[in-house]
Amino acid sequence: SSNKLQGYAPICLGLEDFYTRRLYLRIQDCFGRPIASAPDAWIDVVERYSNDYNKTLKRTTNTTRCLNLGSYNYLGFAAADEYCTPRVIESLNKFSPSTCSARVDGGTTVLHEELEDLVARFVGKPAAVVFGMGYVTNSAILPALIGKGALIVSDSLNHNSIVNGARGSGATVRVFQHNTPSHLEEVLREQIATGQPRTRRPWKKIIVVVEGIYSMEGELCKLPEIIAVCKKYKAYTYLDEAHSIGAVGKTGRGVCELLGVDPADVDIMMGTFTKSFGSCGGYIAGSKELVKYLKYACPAHLYATSMSPPAVQQVISAIKVILGEDGSNRGAQKLARIRENSNFFRSELQKMGFEVLGDNDSPVMPIMLYNPAKIPAFSRECLNQKVAVVTVAFPATPLLLARARICISASHTKEDLIKGLEVISKVGELVGIKYFPVEPEKQ
Ligand code: PMP
Repeated sequence: SSNKLQGYAPICLGLEDFYTRRLYLRIQDCFGRPIASAPDAWIDVVERYSNDYNKTLKRTTNTTRCLNLGSYNYLGFAAADEYCTPRVIESLNKFSPSTCSARVDGGTTVLHEELEDLVARFVGKPAAVVFGMGYVTNSAILPALIGKGALIVSDSLNHNSIVNGARGSGATVRVFQHNTPSHLEEVLREQIATGQPRTRRPWKKIIVVVEGIYSMEGELCKLPEIIAVCKKYKAYTYLDEAHSIGAVGKTGRGVCELLGVDPADVDIMMGTFTKSFGSCGGYIAGSKELVKYLKYACPAHLYATSMSPPAVQQVISAIKVILGEDGSNRGAQKLARIRENSNFFRSELQKMGFEVLGDNDSPVMPIMLYNPAKIPAFSRECLNQKVAVVTVAFPATPLLLARARICISASHTKEDLIKGLEVISKVGELVGIKYFPVEPEKQ
């Protein structure tokens, strides 16, 4: 209805075409915008725009400096850091960007072993093994752990890497309602009663897979309740901490620390280095026997080139800062900052009348747009006002549950957050996504 929104009308009319290339071509500039800087609090976004009826994206070499509300750089380690960066440069000079070998060949450097010991100590498990990519950690580990005759019970909103790992394992896969321990119990009870579909024998193994913070929901796992159900039905727990390790908990040790869970109660701990640690790669932490087994049974360990040494060094340095082993209290400050920033931003968005998903302390806060036709309006208008946001749509979310996913970082200043809130408020008004209008006297 607003004049300013008229330019977006053809997109709204094209809603029924969402599955087709036509709408995607019209909004493709909202996804995968090239960035010409580190993913810090402010980024240089390459100007790239689509002419709605033209099939090609126009790209210029011009960049716009924008407030970044979309990267997983939770603790701010993805930018130059006084402790991490000089050590990463030194490791680059000493080891080169690649080991050019798998771990069992020449791909295990002293840095890889140091990182595995450090990760195990950090997450509170006896041992850990690292992989070159977080996605591969899930998709290759699940098939190495479990196979035919076994059962995987997976949260309905688990990440695609878990879904692919579960499917590829050959195990029977059942899904329980997102973050609902009572439904997990129902599924386990039913599956244990019926056994394997063909033989009606008990399952060889049962693994329940959950995430610490759900990346599309910003929601914390109901871990204590889920562990209680797993213990009752003798199922193993597999916890993906991609978005929670380093980001939550008093000393950054993830949801176990935040929710008061003993790490010994989680059988397999998985995480990635791509968020809080500003690097690449993933890990599995667990018992010594589990890690030893995985090192000899997992093809991604045996046949894939190992994690890049400078990326390994970045994680070692970041964990040392978090633990205060760099001799400063910057780690503690970063952790306090991300919690403060996240809780401030979330409560301000709610006060403005937005529907924001997720829990307090979570740095991920999706703002609901619902109608995917609102994606280009929201994304482009924010960018016009120098705020870069990430929008998510089908197939990452159900078709009519499109959202803008805000990620808060410890490197955002209070002024950054206030600017972000002002822009989101204005654009939210324009796009019509303030679903809970605040009465004037309460403002
Ligand atoms: N698990 C979860 C829950 C994720 O959100 C992601 C990616 N964001 C991954 C695994 C894959 O990790 P990576 O991006 O480090 O490959």
